Amino acid sequence: MEIKLKNHIQKSSHRNIFPPKYLENISCPLCNSKTYTQKYPEYYPRIVTCIKCELIFTNPRLKNKYLKELYTEEYFKNDHSSILGYSSYLQDRKNIIKTFDKRLKTIETFLSPGKLLDIGCATGFFMHSAKMRGWEVEGVEISKYAASYAKEAFGFKIHVGDVLQIDLPANTYDLITMWDVVEHLTNPIEVIQASKRALKKNGLLVFSTPNVGSIPAKLTKHKWIGYKLSDEHLTYFSKKTVALLLEKAGLSLVSSNHVGKYVNLSLFTDRIGLYNKTVSAIFNAAQFVLPKDLSFYVNPFDIMCVYAKKK
Ligand SMILES: [Zn+2]
Repeated sequence: MEIKLKNHIQKSSHRNIFPPKYLENISCPLCNSKTYTQKYPEYYPRIVTCIKCELIFTNPRLKNKYLKELYTEEYFKNDHSSILGYSSYLQDRKNIIKTFDKRLKTIETFLSPGKLLDIGCATGFFMHSAKMRGWEVEGVEISKYAASYAKEAFGFKIHVGDVLQIDLPANTYDLITMWDVVEHLTNPIEVIQASKRALKKNGLLVFSTPNVGSIPAKLTKHKWIGYKLSDEHLTYFSKKTVALLLEKAGLSLVSSNHVGKYVNLSLFTDRIGLYNKTVSAIFNAAQFVLPKDLSFYVNPFDIMCVYAKKK
């Protein structure tokens, strides 16, 4: 069984693209409570806030068997990337690697290169950056397509499948990373607990995830880009709910900041256009006079990067 995104996107009249038979009701993934309210009922009826712990999450969400089928080649290259997946992940390779290199520089202010596990390693671009900087790298990836790309292009060791089904060695890694992964997990607490077991003492878990409590998210409300991906994004963390997540998984917060990405001009104008058509038009016009491969670092201050330690 393979989900054909196109079929659903064409049939759908609103942002959540899958019909009810693909969905299931859940309790809060963080505190297990069954009481919640809809956050933006008019725009996103399936995005809810837990009354007990304030986690914002998607409910009902895609059934597990369908979620696992989401990450096909089409996910990494499609024409509907503001709803699901990427327009062309491979084509954006240069910017993705530049972004990861910048993140590694920050990580290396906390610890020197050692043994790294990248969970949700996709096509291996982060592992590639890390290897170049002296890290010994290993990855976990649920997408068979992305994992085989990483194996073929770089020859990396990749555990293919759900991280909770993989027998990770205990007390082994100096660093475990998860870039834009936590929000895709059905059971984030268990995955972070598994990461904790696999980390060495004083090892670091570093992950990035959209910050639903950030100023841009609060100002733009239902228009915030973070909500556009609410079929694949199952949870929306804030600093408060991330603290609870780490506490439940038994890790200590070291620090957190907001991180950006290197992007090319066309992606930047697309995203700006979601908020302000005039500004977008100006940048769009600029595309004709600026070099085509021009890229720059954009930090919208709505993606948080969390550093947590195993004590
Ligand atoms: Zn809750």
